Amino acid sequence: NTLKKVVVIGGGSSGIGVIASIRKRVKEADITVVEPNDCHYYQPAWTLVGGGLFDISKTQRAMRDVIPSGVSWLQDSVVRVDPDEKYIETRQGKRVSYDFLIVACGLVLRWDKIEGLEETLGLNGVTSNYRFDLAEYTWKLVREMQGGKAIFSQPTLPIKCAGAPQKALYLSCDHWRRQGVLNNINVNFCLAGTAVFGVPQFVPPLTDYLKKYRAQVNFRHNLVRVDGKRRQAIFALDSDEEEKREIALPFDMLHVVPPQSAPAFIAQSGLSDGSGWCDVDKFTLQHKRWQTIFAVGDCCATPNAKTLAAARKQVVVVAENIAALINGAPPTAHYDGYGSCPLTVEKGKVVLAEFGYDSKLLPTFPLLDNTQPSRMAWWLKAWFLPRFYWAGMLRGVEWLAKSKP
Ligand code: FAD
Repeated sequence: NTLKKVVVIGGGSSGIGVIASIRKRVKEADITVVEPNDCHYYQPAWTLVGGGLFDISKTQRAMRDVIPSGVSWLQDSVVRVDPDEKYIETRQGKRVSYDFLIVACGLVLRWDKIEGLEETLGLNGVTSNYRFDLAEYTWKLVREMQGGKAIFSQPTLPIKCAGAPQKALYLSCDHWRRQGVLNNINVNFCLAGTAVFGVPQFVPPLTDYLKKYRAQVNFRHNLVRVDGKRRQAIFALDSDEEEKREIALPFDMLHVVPPQSAPAFIAQSGLSDGSGWCDVDKFTLQHKRWQTIFAVGDCCATPNAKTLAAARKQVVVVAENIAALINGAPPTAHYDGYGSCPLTVEKGKVVLAEFGYDSKLLPTFPLLDNTQPSRMAWWLKAWFLPRFYWAGMLRGVEWLAKSKP
């Protein structure tokens, strides 16, 4: 075996995870990760930070500390891939060739798609748990609110962790309920889509909580503009009528989740499926046109829920398949579409939605009824998983990470 060059685009959850899993299997690989950021984040805990239930500093570590030793770190961004000549090109003009390429660049939060939003984020009661520097502002707003109007928005899917917009709502409402001020607060959940959750089995328990918190659910409401100074959120109403209408809702607190898209270089390099996401086989995660390219995590065009839970299983599949190719075998490891969304319906309780392709339920603990709120699932979300992330997943521990055949 000659030394194989593996280039990984992105040092986020799936990038570092896949490197750790490859190194367990292939000792003779020369691995480079291209990642511009100094910091690495555990994003799932930002929901808890916004509810005052987690320390933000525990969600961040220095990138240099999470990149496994012996792996080269090129601190730069990929702007183009040449899949035929097998090299990547960076913003600073470097070209790096590869034998195998793993696209693990996550997705782009499109704050810019909502007019007036960027200049008012973090001010005027406008916040989002989708940013490290804003999750604590969510908690400040929640803590200080005694009455008024709160709006939680959800854009058109796909987004990462599709449950996160409503998780922010539940934890806020639960706090207000415990403080005895919920009755003074008018809560609106405004979604671009037409269902509170994509997997039907989980809709009834979530609807019960929305009722319990007296939250008004507004479907087909797509946030298009925010007037921070006047505290107004403007939604485009998706209706069958020819004339499209807009509605302005006043707020004291607005939690925004922005539209999300794939990084542009994927489509510009011809790697996308037309929607912009990386066009890989949904089982092997190998690119449909170039056998030397794989993708993992949020950037994939695969129809799974874009979650860290999905990435945790995908990294094992990609590592196994690349190891097989290096050994001259076909890539036979299959990903079952597993994704998970721990819905923090109240402090201390989680509805742990776990499902695969075609909304098939894939519970890790089949004896428990996953559609019911559970204290054990809260413990998993708030205590176990954050610890397991840093000490386990990023170091190649693959406990329960094999896809079911
Ligand atoms: P990321 O972890 O975002 O990493 C992508 C990396 O690629 C970044 O470091 C970025 O800098 C880098 N990059 C981007 N472009 C380039 C480029 N051109 N060149 C080089 N590098 C590049 N998941 C769950 O499973 N459960 C949850 O409860 C949950 N809750 C969430 C709550 C919130 C508020 C958020 C924001 C996310 C949540 N998620 C949850 C989703 C989870 O965090 C993501 O699915 C996961 O981080 C995806 O990993 P990734 O590596 O694909 O992307």
